[in-house]
Amino acid sequence: VRIIDILRAKGDLVVTISPAETVQALVDRLAQYKVGALVVTDADGSLVGIVSERDVVRSLQQQGVSLLEATVSTIMTTEVHTAAPEESLDDLALLMTEHRFRHVPVCTDGRLSGIVTIGDVVKHRLEELQAERDQLTAYITG
Ligand code: AMP
Repeated sequence: VRIIDILRAKGDLVVTISPAETVQALVDRLAQYKVGALVVTDADGSLVGIVSERDVVRSLQQQGVSLLEATVSTIMTTEVHTAAPEESLDDLALLMTEHRFRHVPVCTDGRLSGIVTIGDVVKHRLEELQAERDQLTAYITG
């Protein structure tokens, strides 16, 4: 199974934010869209970072509530691991496990074309295991 199969099922919506927006705007958007991370894009839409609720919690611990007025650029991760739509879901799961992040933006020809989360990976794996189980049960019971 490739990343593109997952995106076909879930769609290509990626919630983004600009690096100049505030952390307050970031937490508002995380809550509004019920997501754990936003991709940070600049005015021409190119990817400049990723920022997750984990970055907010870490920075909140360090600087307290004044963080809410800081800009997204001060807490985002700028070295973003991305994936191509043709890559396999298994490789993506390995990447996430190795690096301990739960979000991977997908890029096609240098443009953002979706995002895959650890939740998507787990959901797919559960469906796969259930299908295998159903097949084996049908085989045994004839
Ligand atoms: P997460 O588990 O996705 O909430 O993110 C954990 C940490 O990794 C945070 O500091 C994120 O900014 C960072 N992070 C999340 N996704 C990626 C990614 N695809 N590439 C690089 N860093 C990431």
